[in-house]
Amino acid sequence: MQNILDLTLDELKAKLVDLGESSFRAKQILDWVYKGVFDFSNMNNIPIKTRETLKSNFYIGVPSLIHEYQSKDGTIKILLQFGDGNIIESVIMKYKHGYSICVSTQVGCRMGCKFCASTLEGIVRNLTAGEILSQILVAQKLIQNRISNVVLMGSGEPLDNYDHVLKFLELVNAEYGLNISHRHITLSTCGIVPKILDLANRKLQLTLAISLHAYNDEKRKAIMPVANKYSINELLEACKYYVSVTGRRITFEYALVNGVNDSEEDAVALAKLLRGMLCHINLIPVNEIKENDFKKSPEERISKFMNIIKKSGIEVTVRREMGSDINAACGQLRRSYIKTQN
Ligand code: SF4
Repeated sequence: MQNILDLTLDELKAKLVDLGESSFRAKQILDWVYKGVFDFSNMNNIPIKTRETLKSNFYIGVPSLIHEYQSKDGTIKILLQFGDGNIIESVIMKYKHGYSICVSTQVGCRMGCKFCASTLEGIVRNLTAGEILSQILVAQKLIQNRISNVVLMGSGEPLDNYDHVLKFLELVNAEYGLNISHRHITLSTCGIVPKILDLANRKLQLTLAISLHAYNDEKRKAIMPVANKYSINELLEACKYYVSVTGRRITFEYALVNGVNDSEEDAVALAKLLRGMLCHINLIPVNEIKENDFKKSPEERISKFMNIIKKSGIEVTVRREMGSDINAACGQLRRSYIKTQN
């Protein structure tokens, strides 16, 4: 059985022809699916015989919505369960310009960043392109509205699931589907250098967000194992290449952890490191999780840090904390839900 959401229009056409069906049905079927109809029986412009063929060859791989947590600030966190029992989480955020969703790309994660709850049990499996896409379809059905921005920043390292993520980027952008422009998509990575270089060569108009979190290798290694494989120097060279080929500004994510990477010296060194690059720094007060001792930096330390960066001429913002009353930190909700089920 094939998940129909993993297929492009042309791929579905070819499969239908192999099954003795007309290729023009492919568009009709995908129109239903992308409209939120997840049952072949309800596609009433498709002949009953064709619907039977569909049922015996394909399934519509949307996960079940098993929990929905609504924050006071309008953020909605959803827990989704796939047919094999695996659970992931996605976050829907409402902004002035519309709805944005943060999707997961893997069940768990193998990258081991010390401040992150998604990686505590390692990786379970990759999500397919259709499974990444399905999070948007379920969310749109829930909010009865269109999602216009996508952030690949939920659980998983997108560049560690590269082929499926590339296919997802093709599907999500397709005119017959969700038609979300790559300019409205942010891909966040902990910094897998060869994949950043490859992505640059594809010249997609994505925003690349790099989880940097430290200004030197020593500090970075202490919180991000990926830094043992790729030095900051190599990472920044890859980022510069990305900017030169795509013309897109890079976002550097910097989680501020009290007493670890939030001193004035850290700010000065960070500004020096990134000066002259087409970039933007996003400071994130770290999400406190009970599995480690990392604490959020106090407000005044955050503003001091921000002002030093600002004065150096680099654009900087502090990420708004959304959904902090609903365990919105990536991976937290899934873990606490699974624990209650055991
Ligand atoms: S921060 Fe991202 S890359 Fe790092 S462990 Fe968590 S999910 Fe994986």
